[in-house]
Amino acid sequence: MKNYDSTKRIMVTGGAGFLGSHLCERLLRERHEVLCVDNFYTGRRGNIVHLLSNPRFEVLRHDICFPLYVEIDEIYNLACPASPIHYQSDPVQTTKTSVHGVINMLGLAKRLEAKILQASTSEVYGDPVIHPQPESYWGHVNPIGIRSCYDEGKRCAETLFFDYFRQYKLQIKMARIFNTYGPRMHPNDGRVVSNFIMQALHGDNLTVYGDGSQTRSFCYVDDLIDGLIKLMESPDDFTGPVNLGNPEEFTILTLAEKIIKLTNSKAKIVYKSLPGDDPTQRQPDILLAKEKLNWQAKTSLEQGLRKTTEYFASLFNKRDIGIVSIDNSLIKGGLRESDYVKL
Ligand code: NAD
Ligand code: UDP
Ligand code: UDP
Repeated sequence: MKNYDSTKRIMVTGGAGFLGSHLCERLLRERHEVLCVDNFYTGRRGNIVHLLSNPRFEVLRHDICFPLYVEIDEIYNLACPASPIHYQSDPVQTTKTSVHGVINMLGLAKRLEAKILQASTSEVYGDPVIHPQPESYWGHVNPIGIRSCYDEGKRCAETLFFDYFRQYKLQIKMARIFNTYGPRMHPNDGRVVSNFIMQALHGDNLTVYGDGSQTRSFCYVDDLIDGLIKLMESPDDFTGPVNLGNPEEFTILTLAEKIIKLTNSKAKIVYKSLPGDDPTQRQPDILLAKEKLNWQAKTSLEQGLRKTTEYFASLFNKRDIGIVSIDNSLIKGGLRESDYVKL
């Protein structure tokens, strides 16, 4: 049955993850009812524990690769591991989540005539030869490499969304998210911002892969969540895809230097081999987001890194703990709370 109240019943898949937990929090603050659906593969109870006492918040442990019958008004589909070491640890499951999982979420949206937003990614552009990347660029993706389970999975998810849109007139919204960072990133997820901050706080050397000349553009989480909500609330005739990211572009070496300075760390930079298919450059063209959503990121890298560093530092201070080393052997079969803290 449709809910005609201004309070919507909103489902967030991947709601216990980094971005999902911030999104659940924002939607609750806007007085919606939120159903967080997560299989806790990379998500953590710790990310949503502060929301559990809210009567408008509900959590369901569920893998979206299996059908799901619930009654809701809107869906944000964020379920999918996002960091390379996570999505590469069980690549078949990664593709299943973006294909079987997405078909289930689209089937659910179709039955309910619910609006559905997909968290797509800049990875659909692969190792781009057009710079910066506009939405009209079709990308340069290796279909059989170690990143393909994620990149091609997300590309197929986009195809499915647009076919459900054309075939069944579904209301869809497609966000192409560029590298986003902030509090509640998993300390062991191997992404560059979390790795560098954890290493700097530990006094360990910062591991730059390759010569550090590859670039990324980093968006602070609060800005990104604003963009996702603006996209969901945009006029019905705007489906996207739309790039959401901060166009300020930095080399990985510059990022390492900034984090060493910010943390006053004595850590040095060490160079390690570059993983396969690592994109050499990435910067969003955000003209469309500005025009259609009146959106652009507001937080500078310095401000965002400061808040993120405070968060990681609080993991040490609060519990007086050591953090286990960054080791992707921990993540086979999913993460446990105990995988990132050693009491
Ligand atoms: P994350 O790993 O912290 O969150 C993903 C969440 O999805 C986790 O809670 C995980 O347990 C859950 N999940 C994974 N597979 C699932 C399944 N089959 N069923 C149910 N739940 C499942 O990652 P994140 O950074 O929060 O990313 C969220 C979404 O945004 C992902 O779809 C990711 O591809 C996309 N994205 C993120 C970034 C970024 O920089 N953070 C960039 C581009 C796209
Ligand atoms: N589905 C679901 N929840 C629903 C409706 C559908 O999980 O409320 C799943 C269902 O398992 C199906 C998939 O979504 O396999 C696609 O549904 P669709 O109606 O598009 O296709 P069909 O059921 O005809 O295969
Ligand atoms: N990277 C690095 N050191 C690390 C982790 C990552 O130099 O400890 C590099 C990585 O090779 C890539 C960039 O930082 O060039 C961003 O990596 P991340 O995994 O955060 O995101 P993605 O490659 O998916 O954009």
